[in-house]
Amino acid sequence: MTNALVELKAHLGEVADLSAAAAVLEWDQLTYMPRGGAEARAQASATLAGLTHEKLISQRTGDLLEAAAGETSTSDSDSDEARLVRVTRREYDRQRRVPTSWVGEFTRVSSIATTTWEKAKPASDFALFRPHLERIVAMRREYVEFFAPYDSIYDPLLDGFEPGMKTAEVTAVFSVLRPALVDLVHKIAERAGAVDDRCLQGDFDEARQWDFGVQVLKRIGYDFDRGRQDRSAHPFTTSFSPDDVRITTRFHRDLVASALMSTVHEGGHALYEQGIAPALARSPLANGASHGMHESQSRMWENLIGRSRSFWKVFYPQFQRTFGEFAKVPLETFYRALNKVTPSLIRVEADEVTYNLHIMLRFELELALLQGDLAVKDLPGVWNQKMNDYLGVLPPDDAQGVLQDVHWSGGSMGYFPTYSLGNVISVQLLNTALAQSPSLASDLDRGEYGSLLGWLRENIHRHGAKFESPELLRRITGEALTPQPYIQYLKTKFGEIYGF
Ligand code: ZN
Repeated sequence: MTNALVELKAHLGEVADLSAAAAVLEWDQLTYMPRGGAEARAQASATLAGLTHEKLISQRTGDLLEAAAGETSTSDSDSDEARLVRVTRREYDRQRRVPTSWVGEFTRVSSIATTTWEKAKPASDFALFRPHLERIVAMRREYVEFFAPYDSIYDPLLDGFEPGMKTAEVTAVFSVLRPALVDLVHKIAERAGAVDDRCLQGDFDEARQWDFGVQVLKRIGYDFDRGRQDRSAHPFTTSFSPDDVRITTRFHRDLVASALMSTVHEGGHALYEQGIAPALARSPLANGASHGMHESQSRMWENLIGRSRSFWKVFYPQFQRTFGEFAKVPLETFYRALNKVTPSLIRVEADEVTYNLHIMLRFELELALLQGDLAVKDLPGVWNQKMNDYLGVLPPDDAQGVLQDVHWSGGSMGYFPTYSLGNVISVQLLNTALAQSPSLASDLDRGEYGSLLGWLRENIHRHGAKFESPELLRRITGEALTPQPYIQYLKTKFGEIYGF
């Protein structure tokens, strides 16, 4: 390797170390930190974020990038080195538009907002959270101006999660998805009695839920020597390196499948991070291609695999032994219950069909907040109105309405659409994997998940962030992002369950 490249890698390694340290602090904040630590942690996180940003946008990064670009100008454009220069250049140009002082202040503001949200949510106290959210929206509006001119005010935010994607593309995908989903929801509503999910409700020991989840994680390939699981209010995955990828979960004693499915979801994220090639560690390439691509992995394991009949043919006997309540519940009853479609209040508990309507609602509200068409004080009312319009359910309080998600408190706006993009991508990918590997379907039927994981590692995980999501998807499937396969998947699966 040439000199400038070696120096660039060492320099970016230090930036990555600072980011990893910040991620450890955030993980601790969301798992073990006592509430009293909030102010001090906000300050420490703000300092680290500022240092990281300063180092990334420094003149030294710019000089090394330029020299390294010269050295790699004749390399294979798909090589790690050429891609490192390209991806770093993109991030460098983006971050240089944002003042370091803004980054530090935003980190401090959102850290305190998260701690406040953790108090406000159980108390259903939007008034407590409101000034923090107002500050976050105001700062996000400042942020987008660093990127002016833009086509949509949402573009600079979306770009942070889906590099290279435009808001207009999201709108186009949603405009195809929405009528198809609404049609499905109506068809299912006419046959609502066809599925009974009462077997999933009861009182289920948390330790047993934990143990069963861990067994499933091991079976799908999550490596506990390079990861661990803890509890948090809102489940998440974080990576300090491909060799230390952690997940969290939370339990509902009254719902047997809730923690399990969320564990499998986070497990899907973690498999992605653990599968990134070691050579990419400590660099901007040691990330997923995009949040949508990341969600495609979590949602593939959670829904396409974890809610499939073949998955439960494998795991149900063990599940019945763990939870004696199911000794007399037939597999088919359980499978249908697990896939029951009901308009409901909580996004993370939503079924596969209504889930995307929760996302579209948030996307529209974020856009309205950013455009100044909606004031934060009016947000709970508009949220409830839209829930009623889209899903026919009315939140009885803000805890089950506008306060349910952690994202806004952490400063994330522009993130929600990536969940639905992940759903769409997951089906495109699995269809391709099944077409390319004739034995995959029977492997899945036997609970042999190594062949799917191997395919995902080879085609997606090992590349990290080398390729932007649209390019990666096209390389693998030969297609651009398209909602049709996902719609077809939903129609087939739920048409069979509901009999239409
Ligand atoms: Zn996720």
